[in-house]
Formats: sequence, C-alpha cells, structure tokens
Amino acid sequence: EPAIEVRNLTKRYGSHTAVQDVSFRVEAGETLVLLGPSGCGKTTLLRMLNRLVEPDSGVVLINGQHVRSQPPELLRRGIGYVIQQVGLLPHYTVAENVAVVPQLLGYAPAIIAARTAELLNRLHLPPERFAGQCPSQLSGGQQQRVGLARALAADPPVVLLDEPFGALDPITRASIRREFRELPELRRTTVVLVTHDVTEAFELADQILLLDAGRVQQLGPPRELLLRP
Ligand code: ADP
Ligand code: ADP
Repeated sequence: EPAIEVRNLTKRYGSHTAVQDVSFRVEAGETLVLLGPSGCGKTTLLRMLNRLVEPDSGVVLINGQHVRSQPPELLRRGIGYVIQQVGLLPHYTVAENVAVVPQLLGYAPAIIAARTAELLNRLHLPPERFAGQCPSQLSGGQQQRVGLARALAADPPVVLLDEPFGALDPITRASIRREFRELPELRRTTVVLVTHDVTEAFELADQILLLDAGRVQQLGPPRELLLRP
C-alpha cells in the first residue's frame, strides 16, 4: 500500500476553490514535490495531509489510515512539518527545540540526547558548538537546518515541507538542497515538499505534481514532465 493516498480532495474558501479534485499516491520513501505558481493551492493541499486544513470533500490516508479518524494533535506528532518561517521556539536552545516532539512522545532522555546529537552532526551543526545556542544566534540557513532536525527527530514516517529553503539566499539554498538530498533520514522517509522553484523540484522529486489553479495539471516523474514556457 502507498504511504500516502489522496483521493478527490477539494477545498473551497467561500466561493473560491483553492484545491479541486486532486488525487495522488506517494510510495514509502519517495519524495513528491507539489509545484506551481503562488496561489495555485500548494500550501492548502499540503495542510490537508496533516489536518491543519480540513477538506470539503475527498479523503487522505496515511499508511492506510484515514487521517480524519485521528485526532489532529496526535496525527501531527507523527508527521514532521517544516515551513518557510521556521518557527523555532525562541527561548529554547537548539537541542531543546529538536527534542520537543520526542519528549511529547515520551522517549527516554538518553535516546533523545543521542538522536539530537546525531541529527545536529548530520546537518553540519556540531552539537558541541550549537546545542546550547538560541535560535536568534543562528543564521537563516542554520535555523532552517534546526527546523529540519526538529521535524526528523522522532523519525516520522512522513515529512511535509512547505518551501523549506524559501527564506535562504541562493547559495545557501543550493548547498542545503544538496545536503538534504543525501540525508539518510530523509531517504527512508516519505516526503511531500512544496515549492514554486522548478530547479528545486527537478533536483529533489521522485514525482512532481504540477498544480494549476487548484487542479492537477501533470503528475509524474521529472523526466516525463512537459514544462511549457
Ligand atoms: P500556494 O501555496 O500555492 O501559494 P495557497 O494554498 O496558499 O497557494 O492558496 C491557494 C488559494 O487559496 C489562494 O488564492 C489563496 O489566496 C487562497 N487561500 C489560502 N488560504 C486561505 C484562507 N485561509 N482563506 C481564504 N483564502 C485562502
Ligand atoms: P504561502 O507563503 O504559502 O503563499 P500565504 O502567505 O499565502 O502562504 O498564507 C499565509 C497564511 O494566510 C496561511 O495561513 C493561509 O491559509 C492564509 N491565507 C492565505 N491567503 C488567504 C486569503 N486570501 N484569505 C485569508 N487567509 C489567507
């Protein structure tokens, strides 16, 4: 069975249809990129996967389970989520930010500490130097890496990323994107990533879903996509 299955999702805001009759499947371990211009419905679609937005019709299944049968808070603990404005807790250290979800899930402190150190190392934030720092002491790229570490800390089966590199300068963006592709944690996780950047989509996607005014325009692996100018 697919890790994520979406059937006929529709979401309206008043008379405006933001997402219309969208269906797709993502196999475990694959990365689906939602691509399209600003306002085409990418964020709305992504947020219906973790119930930050409730659809008007259609269903979402994660590992075969209807998300609407799961309490939203519990559901979200099981799904990593990163947005452009990272939203790190400003009065918590880097290590405390990364530990939030594993703590909520009741992981043992020793396991949390080991996992945090491993992820920070992997994301080029050596814990000796960064674990005790506060988010305001970090660059934008470093904060984004902490956000990613936080989303991955509890080894979620699914990670949702909304323009995760959007706030970064082009050079940092390109280098984080390369690291990101190589992360073993991400390779074993099912990822849905939102971007309006075609290069980024081609670099990261197993499948690209091209959205146009809320509808699926194309869906397939990057090499099969026809991009009209
Ligand atoms: P994207 O992520 O592709 O930029 P969004 O999903 O944010 O697109 O928005 C899709 C459309 O729905 C846009 O026209 C946007 O203005 C509208 N929209 C998004 N969120 C809301 C909301 N909470 N209330 C009303 N309209 C919204
Ligand atoms: P994005 O960066 O994905 O385009 P936006 O800046 O469009 O996100 O949206 C930020 C927030 O505002 C979201 O919570 C979204 O649901 C809400 N929003 C977006 N468009 C509208 C709208 N037309 N009316 C009301 N809320 C909106």
